Amino acid sequence: MRTEHARPIRLSDYRPPDWLVDTVDLDIALHPTRTRVRSRLRLRPNPQAVGPAAVVLDGDDITPLSVRIDGVPMADSAYLATPDGLTIPQPPAGPFVLEIETEIDPSANTKLMGLYRSSGNYCTQCEAEGFRRITFFPDRPDVMAVYTTRLEADRDEAPVLLGNGNLIEQGDVPGTTRHFAVWHDPFPKPCYLFALVGGRLGARTATFTTMSGRTVALGVYVESGKEERAGYALEALERSMRWDEQAFGREYDLDVFNIVAVADFNMGAMENKGLNIFNDKYILASPETATDADYAHIEAVIAHEYFHNWTGNRITCRDWFQLCLKEGLTVFRDQEFSSDMRSRPVKRIADVRVLRGHQFVEDAGPLAHPVRPDTYREINNFYTATVYEKGAEVVRMLETLLGRERFRAGMDLYFARHDGHAATVEEFVACFAEAAGTDLSQFMLWYAQAGTPELAVTRRHDAQAGTLSLEIAQVLPPTPGQPSKSPMVIPLALGLVGPDGDDLPIRLAGHGPVDRGVLVLTRAAETFVLEGVPAGTVPSLNRGFSAPVKINADLTSDDLRFLAAHDSDPFNRWQAVQTLASELLIENVAVIRAGGAVRHDGGFVHALAAVLADERLAPAYVAQVLSIPSEGDIARDIGRDVDPEAIYLARQALRRALGNDLAPTLRILYDRLRQDGPYSPDAASAGRRALRNVCLDLLAAPGHPAAITLAAAQCAEADNMTDRMAALATLALHDTPQREAALADFFERFRTDPLVIDKWFALQAMIPDPGTLDRVRGLAAHPAFSLANPNRVRALIGSFAQANHTQFNRADGEGYRLVVDTVLALDGVNPQVAARLATAFRSWRALEPTRRAAARAGLERLAGTASLSRDVADIVERSLGER
Ligand code: ZN
Repeated sequence: MRTEHARPIRLSDYRPPDWLVDTVDLDIALHPTRTRVRSRLRLRPNPQAVGPAAVVLDGDDITPLSVRIDGVPMADSAYLATPDGLTIPQPPAGPFVLEIETEIDPSANTKLMGLYRSSGNYCTQCEAEGFRRITFFPDRPDVMAVYTTRLEADRDEAPVLLGNGNLIEQGDVPGTTRHFAVWHDPFPKPCYLFALVGGRLGARTATFTTMSGRTVALGVYVESGKEERAGYALEALERSMRWDEQAFGREYDLDVFNIVAVADFNMGAMENKGLNIFNDKYILASPETATDADYAHIEAVIAHEYFHNWTGNRITCRDWFQLCLKEGLTVFRDQEFSSDMRSRPVKRIADVRVLRGHQFVEDAGPLAHPVRPDTYREINNFYTATVYEKGAEVVRMLETLLGRERFRAGMDLYFARHDGHAATVEEFVACFAEAAGTDLSQFMLWYAQAGTPELAVTRRHDAQAGTLSLEIAQVLPPTPGQPSKSPMVIPLALGLVGPDGDDLPIRLAGHGPVDRGVLVLTRAAETFVLEGVPAGTVPSLNRGFSAPVKINADLTSDDLRFLAAHDSDPFNRWQAVQTLASELLIENVAVIRAGGAVRHDGGFVHALAAVLADERLAPAYVAQVLSIPSEGDIARDIGRDVDPEAIYLARQALRRALGNDLAPTLRILYDRLRQDGPYSPDAASAGRRALRNVCLDLLAAPGHPAAITLAAAQCAEADNMTDRMAALATLALHDTPQREAALADFFERFRTDPLVIDKWFALQAMIPDPGTLDRVRGLAAHPAFSLANPNRVRALIGSFAQANHTQFNRADGEGYRLVVDTVLALDGVNPQVAARLATAFRSWRALEPTRRAAARAGLERLAGTASLSRDVADIVERSLGER
C-alpha cells in the first residue's frame, strides 16, 4: 500500500508528558474562511518527567503565524514547525507562557474534525485528536488544563456564541458589527473536551435544581425554526440528570449545561464539558418525523453524553488505550438508565441483539481486538462495538460478580479517588477489588484477550442422588495477534426450571446455596454438581445474558420449547425461542444449498403461538420474541462458508410459514393493538406499536394481496412516523406497485426534511432484490444525496453495506464494487467515515468461496490505491492481514 506508514502507537510505550499545561486562554475570532486563533498556554515542566525536555506540540494541517515565549516573539529558527507539530528544542527551564497564533478555514474542513461549519453554523469536534487542527497543543488526554475562551463573531452571522463552562462576559466590539462572549471552565480537562459553537440557533431551555439545591440553566440548541422538535431531548436531559443523582449520587457541577444539534457529524454525539454537541439525528423528534426507536435512541444518547460528565470528564482517560474506561462504563450507565425508564428485559434483549450483531461479528473477524487494545495506528478506528458494547458488558459482569452493593461501593471509591484525574483501567478495577475485598487479577483478562468465549455445557442427571452435573468447558478462539489464550472468569447466572415449570433453589453439592444463582467459572473445564434436582429439570443458562459468551448446551428442542413456555427469566425465555429458530434456520440453509425442500416445524410455530397467547407478557416483549434471528444472526451462527442467498431464502420461508400459520391470531392482535388518540412516545405505547407492526409484517410475509393493501393503507394514513415507517418497511419487501407508490408519496411528503429522507434512502438500500444495486446507484446521484454529509452516506451506502446481506454480497461482486467505489470517493472528503464504511468487509473470510474471492478483490483494490488515508489504510490492512 502506498500510503504514509505511521508507526503503530503502543500502550507499553506510554510515558508521562514532559510538560504540563495549567491554563489555556483562547481568543478565537470566527470567520467563514479565515478564523484567527490566539492561544496562550501556561506551561510548566512535569515533576514526574525524566528530565528537561523539548516542548513538542501536536498540530494537524495548521501553520503558526507567530510564536512568543513570555511575551517575546520567537525567531523562526528557534522552533520547528512540521505538518504534524511544533517543537521548541530549547524552552526555558521553568514555567513559561507560550503564545501561538494560527489561522484556519472552517469552511474548507470536510473531515469534520477540529473547527468546521455545518448548515452555516460554526462548531468543533476535538475527540480524539481534533484540537490539534485548531491550534498547536500537547493533544493527549493526560494533559489537563483550565480553559478560558473568548469567542468573537459577526453578530448577524453568529448571534449565539457558546463555549465550555460558564459564561463570564459578553458584549459588542465597539465600532464593528462584531460581538464577543467569554466562557470559563473551572474544571481542568483534556483538550479533546474543548468545544465552541457559533451561529444562528434557537433553543429550548429549562432550569434544573440539583440534589444540593443548585440551579443549572439547561439549553438545547437547534437550527432556528426547529425548536419545537427539541422538547423531548430536553426532557430526556432532565431525567438523566435526576437519575445520575439517584442511581450513582452524581451531581452536575457547572451553572450551565448546553446541547447543540448539528446536521454534519461523524459520530452520534460528543460529551464536551458543559457543551455537548450532537448529531441532530439524536436530538430532533416529533411524532410525524421520528419513530419510537428514534425517541429511544435520543433518550439513550442524551443520557450517555450527560453521564460522561462524571465518567469521562471529571475522571478522564490517561491515554487512548483506556478508551473503554469512559466508553464501556458510560454505555453501561446509559443502559441502566434506559432500563429504569423503560422495560428492563426488553432493553436487555435489544442490547444483546446489538452486541451480537456488531461486537460478536467484530470478534469473529480480522478486526477483532481487546476491549483495551495494546496497539493502534489510527485511534479513530477504535471507537468500536468491542470498546463500547463489550466494554459495557465487562462492567456489567463486575456488578454481577460483586453484587449491587459492593459494585456501588467500588464506583463510589472510583469517583472519590480519581476525581480530577486521567485514570487507567487498572485503577478502575482496583477500586472494585478494594471495595469488595476480592482479587480481580484474572478478571483483567476481559480487557486484554480478544474474542468471544465459547462454553460447551454437558448435563448428567443422577436420578438416584437427585443431582445434576453440569460439565462446562470454555474455549477462547484465537484472534489476530493472540494465538492462544488463558481461561477467563465467567459469571454464569443459572436457573433450574423444575418439571412443573417453577424455579428450583440452586445448591451446589457440598457447598450449599449458590449466591444469586451465579456460578463463577475460572478454569478451562469444570464440573458443578447441583443437588435437589428432580428428573425433568431443565437448566436455564446465562440468565439475563450474565456473560458475553456463546453457549453450546446439550439442550434438546423439547427442552428449549419447555424453557420458551416456562422460564421465569424473560431474557432466556426469549433466547429459547431464538435458539429454536436458529437451529431450524441453519438446518434449512443447508437443505436449500443442497437443493432440497425446507422443513416446516410445527413445534416452533406452536411455541410462538403460546407466547402470543400469554396475556401477562408486555407487547414490547412479545414483539422481541416474534422477531426471528436476522440474516446477520444466522450468518454468524453458521460461521463459515456463508451463503447469504440461502440464508435469506430460509428466513423468508420461515417468515412466510409464520405469516400463514399464525394469520388469524396476528390479525386479531393487529386490530386489538390499534391506538386511537394522540401519539405518545412512552415505552408502553411504543411497545404496542412495535407488536402491532411485527404482526403486520408477518401477515404480509406470504405476500397475500389483502395484507399488502393493509400495509399500504397504514403507510398512507398513519399519523406518526413509527407506523408509517413500519408499514413502508413491510411494503419494501414486496415487489408490488404499492411499494413504488408509497416510496414516491413518502418522498414528496418529507422532501424538505433531511433526517426523514435518510430513512427513505436507508429503506431502499435494504431492499433484498437484485434491482437494488441500480436503485442505490441512482439514489447516489439524487439531489438529496451528498458525500459531504455522514448521515446521508450512512443512510444510503452504509445501510446497503451493513444491512443488505444478499445485495452487498452479490455473487457477481457488484455490491462490493459499489462500496469500494464509495470508500475511495469519500476518503478524500472524510476519511473517518470512509474507514467506517470499509469495515463492512470485516466478515469476508467467513463467506463461501465465490463471494470470498470477490470481497478480497475489493479489499485488494482498496489496498492498491495510492494515497489512501491512514484511517482507511489501517482498516484495509488489518482486514487483509493474516490471522
Ligand atoms: Zn461515549
